[in-house]
Amino acid sequence: MKPPLIQAFSAEDFRADGHTLIDLIADYLQAVQSEEDMPVCPLVPPEDSLSRWKDQSFTSPKAFYQQIIQSANHLHHPHYMGHQVSPALPSSALSGLLVSFLKNASGVFEMAPAGTAIEKIVANEFARFIGFGTQSDGIITSGGTLANLTAMLTARQVKGTGDIWNDGLENNPNLAIMVSEEAHYCIERAARIMGLGAKGLVTIPITKEFKTNPAFLESVYQKHTAEGKKVFAIVGNACSTATGAHDDLRSIGRFAQAKNIWYHVDAAHGGAALFSDKYRNLLDGIELADSVVIDAHKMMLTSGLCTALIYKDGNNSYRTFQFKAQYLFEESQDKEWFNMAKRTFECTKFMNALNTYQVLKQHGPELIGAYVDQTYDLAKAFFKSLDSDPLFETIHHPSANILCFRYFDEQKNKEELDQLNRSILEAIVRSGDFYLVSTTINNTFYLRVSIMNPLTTLTHLQALAVRIKKQALASSTKK
Ligand SMILES: *Cc1c(COP(=O)(O)O)cnc(C)c1O
Repeated sequence: MKPPLIQAFSAEDFRADGHTLIDLIADYLQAVQSEEDMPVCPLVPPEDSLSRWKDQSFTSPKAFYQQIIQSANHLHHPHYMGHQVSPALPSSALSGLLVSFLKNASGVFEMAPAGTAIEKIVANEFARFIGFGTQSDGIITSGGTLANLTAMLTARQVKGTGDIWNDGLENNPNLAIMVSEEAHYCIERAARIMGLGAKGLVTIPITKEFKTNPAFLESVYQKHTAEGKKVFAIVGNACSTATGAHDDLRSIGRFAQAKNIWYHVDAAHGGAALFSDKYRNLLDGIELADSVVIDAHKMMLTSGLCTALIYKDGNNSYRTFQFKAQYLFEESQDKEWFNMAKRTFECTKFMNALNTYQVLKQHGPELIGAYVDQTYDLAKAFFKSLDSDPLFETIHHPSANILCFRYFDEQKNKEELDQLNRSILEAIVRSGDFYLVSTTINNTFYLRVSIMNPLTTLTHLQALAVRIKKQALASSTKK
């Protein structure tokens, strides 16, 4: 008998367990795609989940895998239409396994020779589709939240007075970021993390369709500048999280240029439209940005977290963290593109760019274009059918694959409708028939779907509408 520590690294055990796992996942994929009886999300109260997994004994890898699969939220189910996370491409899940196994940490080149090069290639490929020039460069981070914070730090170092990285904020009181109230909450969080406080966020009013209203840019800027604030950056949403609204990126870009402030485009969700002939125009003006964030795990079907932060001028990416870490890099002031940790938050960071690289190389950008087209088209079709139904109320025209709406009954007042829609959502999600989410807009409760699954069709969406009506009836008569 080998000692357990050595046995745990057995190639033969790995082969056997690996085959078991792949078979399980393939069977699961087949079952989940043919939906019928399977609940989308086998929801249990958090405390139950906690005690279940606490008391769980580990009998065999197979039993463990099975139990995890069974209790998961099934993103590959055609009735999954909840948060903005796409089901993983099976091919991407396989490269994800490789990424996990090799564990090459692409913070320093020597730790991940392939991963580092691939990271740069992926960033440069995004830059090409954006329309940035050859000066462009970028990095890959774990998630849009971290990428947006990184971009804001770069913006502050470049546009602030003096050297904030070394001197702190002494010479830069009252710094602020301009953004609409529809921005993802991580922008506000970034401002607060950066020590700017609540006053570090200057909000721009929105249009009826939830876009940043360009007509207010100048007046908002003037008002806050007169109050002593120094706006150093403006963020455009492509698209916004709640309703998927696309800002007029060109107008905001021109404004940023005129004021000499940093222009950041948060295209975490909508950036994948770069690969769509049909919807590329939603990103018109994105090339005016100084930095752009795109989440591949949202609309590029990757298995792993992979966010690209792309700078128009790659030189700026070196200014975010201008410091010396002698144990990692000898000549720390050199612009070594291949030592990524110089430009990223993360030190040990996996070569997650591999996922995106594989999607682009194996399947081609056309696959992502087709995915964008199909899901965006579907949201429009679903909108049409809801809009013509008096039992539903819509609130916006979808420009992406995100749609907010609610069940409507003219006999009921606002509170009753909020309550009714809340109970409809709760009952449907608990039943496992569909997985959708909600949002609050203008103090009103709305149901919210993001069409993320390529297998979801209009028929599934119409089934959701029927299910909602049925639930509305059941919830109304219960009282
Ligand atoms: C999802 C999202 C984020 C956050 O990205 P994560 O990858 O979830 O950290 C930021 N901005 C927008 C517009 C988003 O849709």
